[in-house]
Amino acid sequence: MFSRKPYIALIFSLLLSACSLVPLTPQMIPTAPAESTRQRATIVFPPTFTPTISPTAIPTLLPTPSLLAMDQSAALLPHFAEDALAYPEATSYEIEISVQFNPEDTLAQISGLARIRFTNPLEIDLPDLMLMLWPNDEQYQSTMSAGPVLVQDKLVVPDVRLDGLALRVDLPRSLPPNEMVDLTLPFTLEVGTMHSPSPKRLGITQGVLIAPTFYPLVPRIVNGEWDVETAPPNGDTTNSDIAFYTVKITASSDLKVVASGMEVSSRLVEAGKQQVTYVSGPMRDFAFAVGAFETQSRKAGDVVLNAWVLPEHTEDFDKVLDAAEIQMELLGERIGPYPYTELDIVDAPGAFGGIEYPGLVYIGTMGTSWVIEPTVHEVAHQWFYGLIGDDQIHEPWLDEGIATFATALYYEHAAGLGQGTGFLSNLRSVVRDYPEPDTPIGLGVGEYASPSDYTIFVYYKGALFLEALRNQLGDRVFFEFLSDFFQKYRYGFASAEDFQDRAESACGCDLDTLFDLWVYEGGNIFEP
Ligand SMILES: [Zn+2]
Repeated sequence: MFSRKPYIALIFSLLLSACSLVPLTPQMIPTAPAESTRQRATIVFPPTFTPTISPTAIPTLLPTPSLLAMDQSAALLPHFAEDALAYPEATSYEIEISVQFNPEDTLAQISGLARIRFTNPLEIDLPDLMLMLWPNDEQYQSTMSAGPVLVQDKLVVPDVRLDGLALRVDLPRSLPPNEMVDLTLPFTLEVGTMHSPSPKRLGITQGVLIAPTFYPLVPRIVNGEWDVETAPPNGDTTNSDIAFYTVKITASSDLKVVASGMEVSSRLVEAGKQQVTYVSGPMRDFAFAVGAFETQSRKAGDVVLNAWVLPEHTEDFDKVLDAAEIQMELLGERIGPYPYTELDIVDAPGAFGGIEYPGLVYIGTMGTSWVIEPTVHEVAHQWFYGLIGDDQIHEPWLDEGIATFATALYYEHAAGLGQGTGFLSNLRSVVRDYPEPDTPIGLGVGEYASPSDYTIFVYYKGALFLEALRNQLGDRVFFEFLSDFFQKYRYGFASAEDFQDRAESACGCDLDTLFDLWVYEGGNIFEP
């Protein structure tokens, strides 16, 4: 995520102090519809919509075998096609949804069915399965209900946990190690409109519906326990392992539908409706958007970059695609190859500076002068968060600090070494002048005292740590390390300890002192 409000637009000609927030220009502020004068759009709920859990929902719960046969390799470049078969134990989702949304609406509805097949990775039986309903978190402008759950042939009413953020499904029969459970459940989201100055990660913004993690998500299992917890405000919310998604979206045919993964079919199903089906390949989340976008595409190596932009922001096409192309090629070469066939870059006015999801990034600042940095930052998250997973709640520097450092790499590559070091010098000045600059970068989102602290230490100081590590290892070893780290944790999940371990292995040296100073304990990183 790229949080715009505390984030200072580090345009090279302009150095702002840490306490100055970017003045929001009218262009940058999403227009909040005046509710009192504007008529709310009427949403006609489909007849199957049942806001309360009812056993009568059972006839709608039949699994949908039609989606099972989809070839997941369609989302992968030919060289990586075998990755579609390399993770048979990964969770698979087959999701069919209907989206009730038109750009003039202030409310939308997403409803449908999710069929989830989950394999027990533990060496002991699992009595239950947890599902996260992230749209009920306050960073999402929505409410979500889901259930009951058809488990094999038994109907289970799940227990609601964490005020609706999680569901516990008591399995009718404990799931032995390495065995799979097959469950299907209906779900519905009521989606509202984002209002400035409170950005959201799911909602309607200036005629665009953005919808990441809109389905019941299986959380990770960490140390033998379901990793079920609320997310502190201001940071990213989800932690999840790679999975395979097949998603069929029915929406107005007057609009464009954009989603993670690769579109494998599209057809008109009834008057005014289109049905688009996607497969993801191995991805750790799935996101989509619906809007009256215009689109332009570009190749970055073999990968197709699609920019989806509102008509009023089409002057940003070249800026966004140029920056994304350079960053994709640079990181592909220096870190490791992007294995998917495409990446979608979606105009999402006011959705923070931007938000990253696998195969799809939302950019919140199109139409403003600050577009390139959010673009190259979110593109870098395809490697750090998307391909190499990390705990976004407890160790956010692993993706945010590195994605910010990748902005310096972009400047260095696109505009010369001086531009990269200039970007980092600006960050250094901000950190040096900020209260308590000794604070470590390795805290969890909720452990920083304020949103500004989180941004300054995790993003800015995190990027400076990568620079310090690069200086200590030297360029050759540093990039060998990043490439080795990528190879080892691609499609996996890495901790700070794993990161340090690979760095030490690359340099054949002990980096405890450096990691303690920056990541774990903190201390004075500036010369006296
Ligand atoms: Zn980010």
